[in-house]
Amino acid sequence: PPEQLPQDPSKKTVVVLGSGWGATSLLKGIDTEEFNVVVISPHNYFLFTPLLPSVTVGTLDGRSIVQPTRHTTRFKTRAVQVYEAEAEHVDPINKTVTFRDNSDIQGRVGSVTINYDYLVYSVGTENQTFGIEGVKKYGCFLKELGDAEKIRTKLMDCIETAALKGQTQEEIDRLLHMVVVGGGPTGIEYAAELRDFIESDLVRWYPEIGKKLRVTLIEALPNILPMFSQTLIKYTESTFKENSINILTKHMVRDVDAENVTVKTPSGEEQKIPYGLLVWAAGNTARPLTRQLMAALPEAQKNRRGLEVDDHMRLKGAEDSIFALGDATATAFAPTAQAAAQQGAYLARVFNQLARVDVLEHKLEKAKKEGASGAEIQGLERQIEKASRIRPFKYSHQGSLAYIGSDKAVADISFGGTQNFASGGVATFLFWRSAYFSMLFSLRNRSLVAADWLKVYLFGRDVSRE
Ligand code: FAD
Ligand code: NAD
Repeated sequence: PPEQLPQDPSKKTVVVLGSGWGATSLLKGIDTEEFNVVVISPHNYFLFTPLLPSVTVGTLDGRSIVQPTRHTTRFKTRAVQVYEAEAEHVDPINKTVTFRDNSDIQGRVGSVTINYDYLVYSVGTENQTFGIEGVKKYGCFLKELGDAEKIRTKLMDCIETAALKGQTQEEIDRLLHMVVVGGGPTGIEYAAELRDFIESDLVRWYPEIGKKLRVTLIEALPNILPMFSQTLIKYTESTFKENSINILTKHMVRDVDAENVTVKTPSGEEQKIPYGLLVWAAGNTARPLTRQLMAALPEAQKNRRGLEVDDHMRLKGAEDSIFALGDATATAFAPTAQAAAQQGAYLARVFNQLARVDVLEHKLEKAKKEGASGAEIQGLERQIEKASRIRPFKYSHQGSLAYIGSDKAVADISFGGTQNFASGGVATFLFWRSAYFSMLFSLRNRSLVAADWLKVYLFGRDVSRE
């Protein structure tokens, strides 16, 4: 990497909250020549979420799909400060952010408050639990790297415990029942990866119990995968049926205890379903920090789904200084990596344009001081006027892709924004793999993922428990 310029107090400061899809895409594109950039995130890496379900069963190693944020920032012209910390307060009036290191080792620094000229708010969301206390206590989420590793450990624990001498049949049945709540793409992709693990590996390593493993997916709505076309929904349902994954639609989970989920069935009755492993993929909700920010701008922020922004990604109520993007916002687009990445790239262009305006304004000031000609000054003013025209954000939907197990995937791809192409099957799976492979951020990630796929092809998945 080239030697970087130090931060410069005479330049404006851009504070970026988060290191996920939106923030990383912004960091890749922003020109740091004209800004001091500070990144604050409790994770010092970017996580490539589309391949996270593969980590839950060991098809991929977690380390293969993360990219340290410092890898992204080290090629910038000006040094970017990266703090592994959690933002705990944003003051949109005084333009400050307060953050704290919440990791195990914290040193002697408590909360730190810094000023920003611009804030890029990209902290994503947390898991929606609908206030069901047992979910956090007994279930596993699938949003962060640690979640995938926890699922893998818990799954193997259930299997080893079921294999223990003297276990009752009832307990074996419970321990070997894997329940997934949520028929959105996260739940579907997890169930698909789990089924592959069972069929390709567990049945071989645990012949006496492998065949007793059951997977049930519970969905409150009449359909799974609502963002896909009817044909692909049907295709996924029939693939799951062939693969012995039981789908319960129109079943709403009401309660969770250590061994059972309680569902409301379509006939309105309550039913207890015993489980060994519970994976909760019931969608997103705003983080407490986001709710706090909304409360600080009560007139402008009234949408419970997330932050309201204008068509330039400016936060309503703090348009001059805060940009919000990705899952933390409530926009017309689905909360996807695709949308967050496009918004991040858009904002990088906006900042680069703002920097150009700053440079031109300095030039104009200097020209005026030095008594430049009227034509020269007018020329600069025209350039400033042109550079200040910032186009609104425009989303370009590339389509939806999901892995559904047994080397099959579904794809709803749009061409030119109007025509749709729906496909499912093995060829789509190869497309799915190559699409995500090529989207991985670095050669390092691509090499590691390719090596993991080869390892599994040659030796199968590892069944040892961490
Ligand atoms: P995130 O990527 O979630 O990033 C949020 C960042 O904020 C993280 O770095 C986090 O550490 C940080 N943070 C959290 N709290 C704080 C705080 N208090 N202060 C500072 N920083 C904070 N979308 C697709 O388009 N295609 C897919 O195939 C796909 N697959 C997915 C698979 C899974 C398993 C999951 C969970 C999601 C998937 N998504 C997919 C959705 C996609 O991951 C999200 O839409 C995307 O991550 C949103 O980007 P974001 O930047 O808004 O938030
Ligand atoms: P989601 O919101 O898409 O799906 C959650 C599902 O859980 C919903 O269908 C909901 O009806 C169901 N549900 C909620 N509460 C329930 C309850 N109590 N009982 C039973 N069912 C319940 O969530 P997700 O799948 O995590 O996806 C979140 C976002 O990330 C979406 O925008 C999605 O498009 C995106 N994503 C995309 C991909 C992909 O493109 N392959 C993969 C994962 C996530």
